Amino acid sequence: MARSGAVLTPHATGAAALSLSIAVSLSSCKEAANTPQDAALLQPVASASASAAPKVELPPSSASAHSDAAEVARTLDIQPRQAWGARKSIEGRMRKNASIRWVTIHHTAERNRANSRASDVLRGIQTLHVETKKWGDVAYHYFIAPTGIIYEGRDPRFTADTATEYDPAGHITISMLGNFESEQATTEAKSSMVNLIANLLSSHRLTANDVRAHRDVAHTLCPGKLLTAYLAKEAQTDIASALKSPSILRVVSNVAP
Ligand SMILES: [Zn+2]
Repeated sequence: MARSGAVLTPHATGAAALSLSIAVSLSSCKEAANTPQDAALLQPVASASASAAPKVELPPSSASAHSDAAEVARTLDIQPRQAWGARKSIEGRMRKNASIRWVTIHHTAERNRANSRASDVLRGIQTLHVETKKWGDVAYHYFIAPTGIIYEGRDPRFTADTATEYDPAGHITISMLGNFESEQATTEAKSSMVNLIANLLSSHRLTANDVRAHRDVAHTLCPGKLLTAYLAKEAQTDIASALKSPSILRVVSNVAP
């Protein structure tokens, strides 16, 4: 069940104060004043043909008992906040989320480095968002690392935060670790993103037309031109394919060492 290669070690709440020296250099979505050029519209249109390769695993006992169920329930594993050593959120600084109407894609705007650990990056982002920006938690509801591992961020019952001009109420936000102005998302990360998007669309009764890139709704380069191009094109068929049999989110309890 555990994915190989994970660099996760559960931390007790409060231990997150360790190794935060990287936090100062981290920033979330760049609040670029320039309007992105060649902004691609993100209006996915459902398509019948696709060949997405969902990165999901078959749970041992969740096969559907329905006689007409040709599809088997699949799960999409999410690493819990403890896996990256998250500190407790400050609920008094957050708003209750509105009914979910959009799934919005972001990037962290920091290039991935060969030896960087997702848990360190996420704790650094949390420190920046809580201590500098005075938000109640990391701004985003989910993070996806280049490994394809998905991490819990802010509780989706609370509205995301942003320094740009859009109102994130009603959005579920996914932040991809990296800077996709200048690097390509990995196949693993894109696969996990597609499957997470499909799950969220399905569970909130939304369609592929309800996916947005941050730059679709605010003046920002986020989530980068390369990822935005993927979202506007190939991802449409991948999401349509994943929507045929959306997986079930499962927060894993036993984190890989
Ligand atoms: Zn963003």
